[in-house]
Amino acid sequence: MSVGLYVHIPFCKQKCYYCDFPSYAGLEHLYKDYVAALVREISDQGGLLSESVVDSIFIGGGTPTVLPTHLLVVVLENIKRSFRVAPNAEISIEANPGTTEKTMLQEIRRLGVNRISFGVQSFSNDVLREIGRIHTAETAVDSVVLAQDCGFTNINIDLMYGLPNQSLEQLKRSLLVAYQLEIQHLSVYGLKVEEGTCFAELEAEGALNLPGDDEDEAMYELSIANNTQHGFKRYEISNFAKLSYECRHNLKYWYSEPYLGLGAAAHSFLDGVRRANVSSVKDYIECSRSGKSLVASVEQPTVETAMAEFSFLALRTVRGISIRDFNKKFNNDFFAVYQHRLNRLERMEAILSDGEYVWLTPQGMKFGNAVFREFLL
Ligand code: SF4
Repeated sequence: MSVGLYVHIPFCKQKCYYCDFPSYAGLEHLYKDYVAALVREISDQGGLLSESVVDSIFIGGGTPTVLPTHLLVVVLENIKRSFRVAPNAEISIEANPGTTEKTMLQEIRRLGVNRISFGVQSFSNDVLREIGRIHTAETAVDSVVLAQDCGFTNINIDLMYGLPNQSLEQLKRSLLVAYQLEIQHLSVYGLKVEEGTCFAELEAEGALNLPGDDEDEAMYELSIANNTQHGFKRYEISNFAKLSYECRHNLKYWYSEPYLGLGAAAHSFLDGVRRANVSSVKDYIECSRSGKSLVASVEQPTVETAMAEFSFLALRTVRGISIRDFNKKFNNDFFAVYQHRLNRLERMEAILSDGEYVWLTPQGMKFGNAVFREFLL
């Protein structure tokens, strides 16, 4: 069996105003203890999955590159020691501009990291200030170029639209800068104001100046059209790649393939069971030290839930749901389960099917969540 590894590094220099990820600023004093706990989990889980081949690793966060280089090296070396990592595994790391020094990039490259994903969000300094980012547009450009100089040939940039006071023109310019950097992958996300964030508070006070629906839609359409024009093929609702540079690790999530999450708040999906680790960094370290379980929740979905999840996760991709995979996995006939709903969605021009796959139309992609709800049984 092949499996993906997700390794969570829950630290950031500063909390961005829109962010509800499990990531924390000001915990530098816990870096060393956290990595020690992570190494224990890596070693334990490596023993349990000794028969599996790891073909993708994603070190995410948070901002993994806020860790000192020697701690990142410890994490990578222990993964390689504890798991059977395929020689051609995709090994990604998330980074924020300004947190990647040359020696760090060289070291992680030497240890097999072959993909780097920069959270840039915008190449407009005004927009970056509005959303609480730690870097400038210039730093972002420098960081990408430095990564290229250090030998990275598979680079992603995350951009966002629908941000406060962001104009269509600013998004257009950000996309242009990204194209000029000759990267291989682009993720373009629309802002969602999440509970518990700074932006949620501002919105409640009526102090968040978001683009209107029409402008938001224009930004969405612009990013799709421009990315396609510049050779970035859309392969998931928010993800675009040059030929053969789709993120293999993220495809595992969407195709319901197994992955193991390591670290605080990390989620796993193994043998059809979803599992989440404790989310507090302190609890994670404490549980690890005292030999208690790191697992906070285990969920064995019902068959109906599993079918729905399988379907709507795959529908996020341009490929869509593989009918053969569905039938094999659930020992059931996809069309027998979903025909009524498919008829309705086809009438709404939200999906298409050729009998082998079912996928979203561009219209369906735009209103993905409404379509996904139709798959809940
Ligand atoms: S850098 Fe990323 S993970 Fe950290 S606070 Fe900002 S958006 Fe969240």
